[in-house]
This record gives sequence, structure tokens and C-alpha cells, in this order.
Amino acid sequence: MIEECIFCKISKKEIKSEIIYEDEDFVVFKDINPQAPIHLLLIPKIHIENISRISLESVKNFNRIFSVIKEVTEKLGVDKDGYRVVVNNGKNAGQEVNHLHFHILAGRKFSWPPG
Ligand code: AMP
Repeated sequence: MIEECIFCKISKKEIKSEIIYEDEDFVVFKDINPQAPIHLLLIPKIHIENISRISLESVKNFNRIFSVIKEVTEKLGVDKDGYRVVVNNGKNAGQEVNHLHFHILAGRKFSWPPG
């Protein structure tokens, strides 16, 4: 836990958020500034800045992220029409919150390439 990290505070329930899934390792909550009808953020409970900071030894601890995405999107019923998963990793990608997070966006069509 990093004292000033907003997503650590969300996972510790020190800041209010709309949590829609939680287990011992991960939390999924609604993005405060949604860019689609459904816009969720999936975070690990442990503080890790981004993908680049995951060590090779600990990478296996993150492989369950895919089953969480699968479970949440199936529960919301957006798996059939499709959805987008985005990770902004570092400065050039526009990462604003330095706690690894997967954006899960659904409920509309998305264009490509991203801006
Ligand atoms: P990124 O630019 O990839 O770092 O995305 C950070 C995301 O966190 C943005 O989509 C913000 O809207 C979202 N965000 C920031 N603060 C909060 C908060 N307190 N609760 C929910 N989402 C937040």
C-alpha cells in the first residue's frame, strides 16, 4: 500500500467507489469518468505501478486477471457483443494513475486505431 495512491485507497475502502467485483487479489470498480456505457477498472490489491514493474518471478500472480475479466464481462452480459480492454502503461500511453489498472469498456462500438 502506497499512502497517497488513490487506487490503494479504493481497494482498502478508504475512498468510496462502486465496486462490482472483489476477491482476495483483485478489485473491479466503476470508472469515475466513464468513456462508454460500461467502463470498469480492474486493479490488483497490491500496489504495482504498471506492467513494466512486474518482475518475472511475480508475473504468475497476475495471470488470474484474465479469468476475472471473463467472469465480470459474462456476468454483465457484454461478452457476446464484445468489449475493449485497455492498459495505459507509462507516460507515452497517458497513464495518469500509477497503480496498474485494466480498463474494461463496453456497451458501444469502439474505433481503431486509438488516438
Ligand atoms: P489512466 O489514464 O489509464 O491512468 O486511467 C485512470 C482512470 O482512473 C481514469 O479513467 C479516471 O477516470 C479513473 N479514476 C481516477 N480516479 C478515480 C476514482 N476515484 N474512482 C474511479 N475512477 C477513477
